[in-house]
Order: sequence, then structure tokens, then C-alpha cells
Amino acid sequence: MYGDDIASVLITQEEIAAKTKELAELIAKRYPADAPEGDLLLVGVLKGAIFFMTDLAKALSIPTQMEFMAVSSYGSSTSSSGVVRIMKDLDKDIAGRNVLIVEDIIDSGLTLSWLKRNLSTRNPASLEVVTLLRKPDALRTHVDVAHVGFDIPNEFVVGYGLDYAERYRDLPYIGTLDPKVYS
Ligand code: 5GP
Repeated sequence: MYGDDIASVLITQEEIAAKTKELAELIAKRYPADAPEGDLLLVGVLKGAIFFMTDLAKALSIPTQMEFMAVSSYGSSTSSSGVVRIMKDLDKDIAGRNVLIVEDIIDSGLTLSWLKRNLSTRNPASLEVVTLLRKPDALRTHVDVAHVGFDIPNEFVVGYGLDYAERYRDLPYIGTLDPKVYS
């Protein structure tokens, strides 16, 4: 659908679905369905995590509630600086709640590290992270992540929510972009 912009398919739709189910089973075991903290609160980071967030919520066998945040990291379109601005904050107070941040991808880790610090000041009962993708070779800071879908090479990827200049989010798989798209 995007001509030959996609150089290769890194993770297929089927592999994403299987991994989401596996992650959902692990996550459901950590949070009792009738926890005194209330339903597990999924905090999705817009816009990249939308597909993963909704598929994960459907795969979970425990009740969850969903909130979204949008943050923007200063820097170029393909690298992060760690200086983060909140574009859309949570609508609800998370004090006393079990919170699970749902991320699309951890690259340098700087955005997530900032987000974890920010949310932890709001006194959740627990605060953990699930990310679909992580680039271990790009990490520039240590950040605890309870659940990782796939570790991937240090390449720029698109699809399944991830964009380049707002395009390609609608692809059902994760792929790499042909370098001609950047130039
Ligand atoms: P970090 O702060 O970990 O370096 O960057 C995290 C954010 O950068 C992600 O939430 C995502 O928006 C963006 N990002 C990092 N790597 C990629 C990538 O390979 N593809 C796309 N589309 N976005 C990325």
C-alpha cells in the first residue's frame, strides 16, 4: 500500500498477535482481578502505542481501564533528547492505582525514564511498563521494564502505530523504511 517504501518486514502481524497474547497472560497473573487498588489502569502513550494498547486490553483476561498521555520529546524526528513536554495529560488521578504504562518502543529510554519519574510523583500503588519493542543497542539510560515484546536491531521502524512523519501507522506489521524515504 505504500509502494516500495517498506524495505523489509521485521515482525509480522501474526507474530505481534502471538506475542500480545503471551504478554497478556503474564500481565494478568501479576494483578488479581479483584485487587483492592481497583482495575488495572493502562496508560497508553499516544500515538504510537494505540494499536498495541487496544490489542493488549482485548487480550487481557482481567478488567482494565484506559487512559492516554501524549508527550513530545524535543529533538529530530528520528532521535530523542530526553527533554519531554506533556502535550496531553491524564484525565484521572492515579493515586493508589495499579498503573501499567503501555509503550510502543523504547529507543534511548529517555522518554520513558522521564515519564516514569513524572507518574511516580503522583503516588500510584504500583507503576510498571510493558513495551512492544525495545532497541537494546540504543539505550542511553537504565529504565526498569517489566515486559518487553521484542528486542529489535537499532534501525528506524514503522507500522502498527509507529510513524515516520505521521505516515505508515496503519500498517498491520512492523517494518523498516527504505532510506530513500528519509532523503
Ligand atoms: P526514546 O526516548 O526511547 O529514545 O524514544 C521513544 C520515542 O521515540 C518512541 O515512543 C517513538 O515515538 C520514537 N521512536 C524511537 N524509535 C523509533 C523508531 O524506530 N520508529 C518510530 N516510528 N519511532 C521511534
